[in-house]
Amino acid sequence: ATKPNVLILGAGYGGMVTATKITKQLGHNDANVTLVSKHNYHYQTTWLHEPAAGTLHHDRTRMPIDNVIDRNKINFIQDEVVKINKEDNTVSLKENEDVEYDYLVTALGAVPETFGVPGVFEHSFNKWTVNGAREMKEHIEYMFARYHNEEDPKDDLLTFIVAGAGFTGIEFIGELSERVPDLCKEYDIPKNKVKMYVIEAAPTALPGFDPELVEYAMNLLENRGVEFKINMPISEVKEDGVVLKDGEEIKSATVVWATGVRGNPVIEESGFENMRGRVKVDPDLRAPGHDNIFIIGDCSLVINEEADRPYPPTAQIAMQQAETVAKNLRALIKGEQLSEFTPDIKGTVASLGGKEAIGVVGNKKLFGTSANFMKKMIDNRYLWILGGIGLTLKKGKNPF
Ligand code: FAD
Repeated sequence: ATKPNVLILGAGYGGMVTATKITKQLGHNDANVTLVSKHNYHYQTTWLHEPAAGTLHHDRTRMPIDNVIDRNKINFIQDEVVKINKEDNTVSLKENEDVEYDYLVTALGAVPETFGVPGVFEHSFNKWTVNGAREMKEHIEYMFARYHNEEDPKDDLLTFIVAGAGFTGIEFIGELSERVPDLCKEYDIPKNKVKMYVIEAAPTALPGFDPELVEYAMNLLENRGVEFKINMPISEVKEDGVVLKDGEEIKSATVVWATGVRGNPVIEESGFENMRGRVKVDPDLRAPGHDNIFIIGDCSLVINEEADRPYPPTAQIAMQQAETVAKNLRALIKGEQLSEFTPDIKGTVASLGGKEAIGVVGNKKLFGTSANFMKKMIDNRYLWILGGIGLTLKKGKNPF
């Protein structure tokens, strides 16, 4: 009999964990496994605020795919997925020929949500990828250099605006505010010349987080010079700054967009029923009405029954879904019973730059260095799941 083709789209958390786990679930004779992703490296989306602010080299957040997956067991195609053709079980790629599949795992991650605010794509930094992070870092340094070198520099060069006080926005401003004193020293600029704003439309920073932790984070960041504008939607991003709902304009040469995400446009392009690019998947993680298509990570939507709203998209959920999908692929191929996915939320920790962080683990609140320790351990645990001790030693973080 011919072996079924398993095709995995996207080499992020969901895709990489599926690829590594599937080779443990299935033998060489059970299936052909192919992974398609845009780059020949895997990167850690959850670390990107660090290279974006320049507090960690971007190479620390990425690794060649060949170093992680066993190429004897998995075929890798570097290309961009354009569309899933559900009717004929193929996937169209940008450069290569269509690829056929019997079973598909879609793990293409997310893109920025603009909420229809004009100017976001034209005038803000919004790509949470390795290339996007590198661009932000270089731009920030260039603004300091220009301020230092120009005859009569404008203040906007040293005004930094972060749109969104969610997880990503707060983690990014944490790193940036930590780095600003060093940048000032490097470019001979007095610290009080630098302005940092975090602008949030919702009535609180870090919505959903414990209020005591939110207060801790805001106080800490304010002490580093960050100014919050909460409950204040941005109505437009312009070349020279932002316009707020109350009409105020803040001039800035750097707007970083971090107001949340929607699922990869491939989902909409391929005609799946979706909410903001995310497919509400069946309990076994298949797309409704499609026996052979799994959708996981930021492209999927799983309802938290207790809270009666979707779980926020996280790496934590993407990785747990990948483990279930690896099992379910085996079950489908072997004709066994499929399992249902139940998230097991272990906690949430946000870094605030330096040795500072906040979080909840189990039902315990963590602040400062203990939260920082936990954050680094979470980052290391992922490397462990993916590549065991070798990868953890090579790419891991010092928790102390
Ligand atoms: P990703 O890990 O983003 O992977 C998607 C992959 O698909 C990428 O490799 C990409 O290159 C590839 N790809 C995309 N489009 C195409 C295409 N058309 N063709 C081919 N390949 C493509 N979550 C947490 O749980 N904890 C945290 O602390 C946390 N911190 C975060 C901090 C930041 C700064 C950001 C931006 C996010 C953070 N998140 C965190 C969220 C987390 O990163 C995502 O939920 C997670 O990455 C989703 O995993 P995924 O597998 O769906 O997508």
